[in-house]
Amino acid sequence: MGTSWKMNKTLAQARDYTVRLVKELGDRDLTGVQPFIIPPFTALATVREIAVDDPRVILGAQNAHWDDAGAWTGEISVPQALDAGARIIEIGHSERRQHFGETIETTRLKVAAALRHGALALLCVGEPAEVRDAGRSTAYILEQAEGALAGLSDEQLRSVLIAYEPIWAIGEAGRPATPEELRGPFAALRERFGDRVRGLLYGGSVNQDNAPDLLRIDGVDGLFVGRAAWEVEGFLALLDIA
Ligand code: PEP
Repeated sequence: MGTSWKMNKTLAQARDYTVRLVKELGDRDLTGVQPFIIPPFTALATVREIAVDDPRVILGAQNAHWDDAGAWTGEISVPQALDAGARIIEIGHSERRQHFGETIETTRLKVAAALRHGALALLCVGEPAEVRDAGRSTAYILEQAEGALAGLSDEQLRSVLIAYEPIWAIGEAGRPATPEELRGPFAALRERFGDRVRGLLYGGSVNQDNAPDLLRIDGVDGLFVGRAAWEVEGFLALLDIA
């Protein structure tokens, strides 16, 4: 169960959230649940300094370049993200595909870079509404996943998480996918990648009301949450549900 804060939170807000999270987690039983937070790059090191007090919470970066260093103004590399405290590298979120030119090929390069440096790769896949309406959701997301994960060994796949996040389900303009809509895509992901990847997550307008039903879907190992986990109480409630 994890959250990306996207382009939100100042350092003070990130600090406040993490201090409260670590305090509230206390000796809560998290058996079977892996909390993760993906802050903006600017807050990663600060969140790390606080989150080390509860090693059950792991951190991620929202993106990283495939090269280790060099003339890539505005980018950060996987080694830099790891240095700042990340263990997970999020790759191919639909906002990056839509607005920043992320392609299947760049996601493939980024997955390879993450794995080369011992990080977990969190690959996001998801189709736009018109693809869903044309009945092509499963083919579309399998193409994204197969393209990004092409050529990986079984050992490498064990460090990959796939998050299925239909674009039409994400953010203010989205609506959560129904369990019926998710059965087909998750069955296909499970059949194709099965137990070879570390886990399959669902993301898109998850909240405390729909989380129990979403977690019951065959093939869903966990949830990747935006808005509903941006307040620490929301994240804690979702961790309790999981
Ligand atoms: C997301 O953008 O990945 C996401 C899951 O957002 P939200 O939960 O806010 O729909």
